[in-house]
Amino acid sequence: MTGQRRIIAQVLSEADDHPAVEEVHRRVAERDPRISLSTVYRTVRLLEDEGIVERRDFGDGRARYEPGDHEHHDHLIDVTTGEVIEFTNEDIERLQERVAAELGFRLTGHRLELFGKPLKPRKAKDET
Ligand SMILES: [Zn+2]
Repeated sequence: MTGQRRIIAQVLSEADDHPAVEEVHRRVAERDPRISLSTVYRTVRLLEDEGIVERRDFGDGRARYEPGDHEHHDHLIDVTTGEVIEFTNEDIERLQERVAAELGFRLTGHRLELFGKPLKPRKAKDET
């Protein structure tokens, strides 16, 4: 089990996209085909509890995962293709801190997902 957990954690830490559990399982199975989908589900949930991975919701009803140690960023989801674009914006960061302060809070984190359609056709990105 610990070896399987290590492989699953490794696959997730190497992901530079936002795979759903089925995709994590596909990548894990390339390294060890004995690891079942339910083991991946269980392990990903444990890794999430430990803060090693973060769960994202991009509005398609499937939980997505990314490493928890990344630099802070927000997400813009192209609703026509499902492509996920990562961004940071200083104005948004400041505005959120101001909103929290006005409500009497110090911000400890936030999560922001924007959804949109491209104004111009985008070049296809080869996502696996
Ligand atoms: Zn991300």
